[in-house]
Amino acid sequence: MNKIRFKSTDNKFSAEITDEILNDIHGECIKSNDTETGGIIIGKYSEDRSNAIISSITGPPNDSKQGKCTFEIGVSGLDKILEDNLDLGYRCIGDWHFHPNSSPRPSIIDDMQMKKFACNKPLNCPEPILLIIGGNQDKGWELSLHVYTKDSKISLKKQK
Ligand SMILES: [Zn+2]
Repeated sequence: MNKIRFKSTDNKFSAEITDEILNDIHGECIKSNDTETGGIIIGKYSEDRSNAIISSITGPPNDSKQGKCTFEIGVSGLDKILEDNLDLGYRCIGDWHFHPNSSPRPSIIDDMQMKKFACNKPLNCPEPILLIIGGNQDKGWELSLHVYTKDSKISLKKQK
C-alpha cells in the first residue's frame, strides 16, 4: 500500500491517498467510460485540520445526474455509508468526479457545486476537498486536488 501525498504551496494544507483507493477511482472511471461519474470522499482530518487522510471513496449515488460533461452528485444511500464510517472515526471530507478524456481542472460549475456541497448540512463538510480525474485508461490518468474553504480555493500538488 503506497501513500501518495499532496501539499499546498504554502504548506498549510495537505492530503494523502493510497494507490489502492486511487485504483478504486480509476475502476469507477473505466466502468463509466465517456460519461462523467463521481462520488464522495470519506476520511478524516489531522487534529489541526491541516491534513486530510482519505480512507475510501464511493461510486455515484443512484440519484446522481450523469452526462458527457456534467456530474451532479446525488445523496441516495450516503447516510447509511456515512453512518457505518462514523464508527471508525471517518466522515465525508469531499467529493470526486471524472472528466473523461479531458483536463482535471475544476470548471466554473465545479467551483459553484463545491460551494453548494460545503453548505449541505447533512453532509457536514464545510471545507470540502475536490478530487478530479481527467484523461482515460489508454492515454493515462491525470489528477487534480483542491480544498475549498469559505473564501478561497487552494490547489494541492502531488509530492515527489
Ligand atoms: Zn468537473
